[in-house]
Amino acid sequence: AALVGRRVRARRRWWRAVEVVGEFEEGCATPLGRLRQVVDALVVEMHAGLASDGGSKLKMLLTFIDTLPDGSEEGIYYALDLGGTNFRVLRVQLGGKGSMILSHKVESQPLPEELKSGTSEILFDYIASTLKNFVEREEDDSQQKTDERRALGFTFSFPVRQTSVSSGFLIKWTKGFSIEDAVGKDIARGLEEAMTTKGLNMRVAALVNDTVGTLALGHYYDQDTVAAVIIGTGTNACYIERTDAIIKCQGLLTNSGGMVVNMEWGNFWSSHLPRTSYDIALDEESPNRNDQGFEKMISGMYLGEVVRRVLQRMAQESDLFGDATQNLSVPFSLSTPIMAAMHEDDSPDLERVRQIMEQNFQMPHVPLKTRRLIIRVCDIVTRRAARLAAAGIVGILKKIGRDGSGRSRSKSQRTSVAIEGGLYTGYSNFRDYLNEAVVEILGEEVARNVILRVSEDGSGIGAALLAAAHSLDR
Ligand code: BGC
Ligand code: MG
Repeated sequence: AALVGRRVRARRRWWRAVEVVGEFEEGCATPLGRLRQVVDALVVEMHAGLASDGGSKLKMLLTFIDTLPDGSEEGIYYALDLGGTNFRVLRVQLGGKGSMILSHKVESQPLPEELKSGTSEILFDYIASTLKNFVEREEDDSQQKTDERRALGFTFSFPVRQTSVSSGFLIKWTKGFSIEDAVGKDIARGLEEAMTTKGLNMRVAALVNDTVGTLALGHYYDQDTVAAVIIGTGTNACYIERTDAIIKCQGLLTNSGGMVVNMEWGNFWSSHLPRTSYDIALDEESPNRNDQGFEKMISGMYLGEVVRRVLQRMAQESDLFGDATQNLSVPFSLSTPIMAAMHEDDSPDLERVRQIMEQNFQMPHVPLKTRRLIIRVCDIVTRRAARLAAAGIVGILKKIGRDGSGRSRSKSQRTSVAIEGGLYTGYSNFRDYLNEAVVEILGEEVARNVILRVSEDGSGIGAALLAAAHSLDR
């Protein structure tokens, strides 16, 4: 009788775990109707953000970039890419009309964790030294030493209030960075000071968001590119807006009649977003509470953490993981790459999931049915994220009349969107869900003319292109 009792209780606990997942799934639901509401809410917020500063959680930041590189740029340019998991230095050699990018070299390294919360001086010092070493190695190799002051493209992937193409103030940090003294400071000047101290003869010719770099490279190869999206550690998008639609900056005149707008869509918020108690708890414990709500549902910094929180709840309510339950209690211990690896496990009987749970959480004997349940949680989180990002993309297309609705010129106008970031490029389940949802929202006929195109290293290379295009500005 004792044995039977124990079995009954075990079964009941198992069903409680299944219930936890079921409730979570319901909370994350993104049926087509809801995605359409998200699309429309984004369009409304875009209008509000363009109407006045502070008019919306969507900042819709001006970039002062009115024309994008067209292939005529020539020479050697360096660029820096800071703001994701990795820090990159790049060198790009441009051949001018007809030959375009002759060569490019990228060096990437993880940014040391302690730099994310020190002082701006320490950060800029590190960046300038890394760049200096890179430049010296490169110029020795290619024997292209020069005394000329080189133009640098600086991709800085945080919300910046630009004062020109080559200067701007940090509004706030995102993605876990928190170097307080840098907020409100001119980022380009900060770096230039550090470069001068290191004896590096360079100036920042373009200070750009990663989305803007990605747009520049995307547009360089495909002139139908109207927007760029990043889905990596963080998420964001930029697009080309007509200047007369940028109401908050009346009388803004540009040669092209347009300007790239950095949306900072990570901070988008709408009551239509499918938010669960796990999202609320994650937000409350984050250093940037009430900010980056869209980002916290979509980007790589957070997806694994949402999964961890659900698994932890399952464990607490059902005793699913026995004594090892507490191993699930460390914030951010389940990273998005770990989640993706489990989600994409195609080994027989989810052996890879078993290994991952053993290695990361000291749980060697997670049974197969529990492993299946873990995969389901990963799937729910990934699917919601990808579908919300898809709604965001369609929102932009709708704002600029490229979604096939209303008075759009023609349904057959080709439209490209450049995409970068590990979630889209490196995680096929995510990519498939996103692509699928874009077709679902737009309909097949319209979606046929919308091209989502990966722009590899776009944020960095694009910054070098923009530095080239603007090297004579000052
Ligand atoms: C930042 C954006 C950036 C995005 C992707 C967000 O957290 O606020 O400026 O473009 O991450 O890197
Ligand atoms: Mg990046």
